[in-house]
Amino acid sequence: MNLNILYKKALNQEFLTIDEGLFLYENAPTSDLLFTGNEIRKKKQTEKNRNKVGWIIDRNVNITNVCIAQCEFCNFYRKPGASDVYITTLEEYDEKIKVLKKLGGNQLLMQGGLHPKLDLEWYKKLFSDIKKIHPDIKLHALGPAEIHHIARISKTTYKDVLIQLTEAGLDSLPGAGAEILVDRVRKTVSRGKCTAQQWLDVMHEAHKLNIVTSATMMFGHIETHRERIEHFVKLREVQAEKPENSEGFTTFIPWPFQDEGTELNEKSGIENTVTADEYIRTFALARIMMPNIKNMQASWLTVGKTTGQISLHAGANDFGSIMIEENVVSVAGADHSFNAKQIQEAISEAGFIPAYRNQAYEYIEQA
Ligand code: SF4
Repeated sequence: MNLNILYKKALNQEFLTIDEGLFLYENAPTSDLLFTGNEIRKKKQTEKNRNKVGWIIDRNVNITNVCIAQCEFCNFYRKPGASDVYITTLEEYDEKIKVLKKLGGNQLLMQGGLHPKLDLEWYKKLFSDIKKIHPDIKLHALGPAEIHHIARISKTTYKDVLIQLTEAGLDSLPGAGAEILVDRVRKTVSRGKCTAQQWLDVMHEAHKLNIVTSATMMFGHIETHRERIEHFVKLREVQAEKPENSEGFTTFIPWPFQDEGTELNEKSGIENTVTADEYIRTFALARIMMPNIKNMQASWLTVGKTTGQISLHAGANDFGSIMIEENVVSVAGADHSFNAKQIQEAISEAGFIPAYRNQAYEYIEQA
């Protein structure tokens, strides 16, 4: 294989094979990967938006910490019946949304465990109750693993769950729970969750219904480089199948495994192996392997400001949210934080124009 031929193919936004991606990752100098990822980023944006980097104010609220999946990288969940289990109440949502609105945000990122008893009717009521009190708040909620779980315990299809939840108030579906979309890996790190194909099937259904979704990757644990690239290829295949009028995956967000205190680390000795250089190289490779996804978000929350800023030169065009409350990666070692001023300063320092955006990745005037 020849690096120059692969760069050319990548710059033409052609689909590279898994072998070609692996060859690039293992042989290309970091500067070449960055250049190529950055050029693809520019091609995906309009002239007007080429130097903009998006950011948003939203708030993470955990629906419940009860979970039957028991992922080995997760410190957040509690088994059913544990003494410190909770389900967030409507009053608590109301309080949190009021604070969010005061800070200028209008999106709630709602994630939680796979509770054995919370079914479709329960989630419909939750979403519609929140929307009755705050009709203007956007609910970026659940994820394919939760949709699969809700469909299973409610004895219905993904399509039905997605339609009914959307009617009840769901605005967009985060790409949580993807980890690595290869079952060899999932069987160890998240064996209680849906399979790779089920995750992709939920997203495919969501795209057919024109629900805004995102895609993620949690890497740097037991997966091989080839399996990371397989993950990219599976995502781009689902994206390629989306209907013309559907946004599909609006963004891709990769973050390294946060190992502190996790079962994966304490029982099996698996550590986060991702260096700053590796994060940036992986980011650029994501841009190269998935030219049909428009936006890519650097996870400064997990990799820190400097690596996040360099990622903006490797293909990232989004810095995500200031995250008022986040409980899954932060209880496993991610301890970075920004306020609204700092996130904009970090984007400017990196040489870009900070642009406030909505959950559909449209730049808007900040309220
Ligand atoms: S990552 Fe999610 S699904 Fe896995 S144990 Fe934690 S809460 Fe449950």
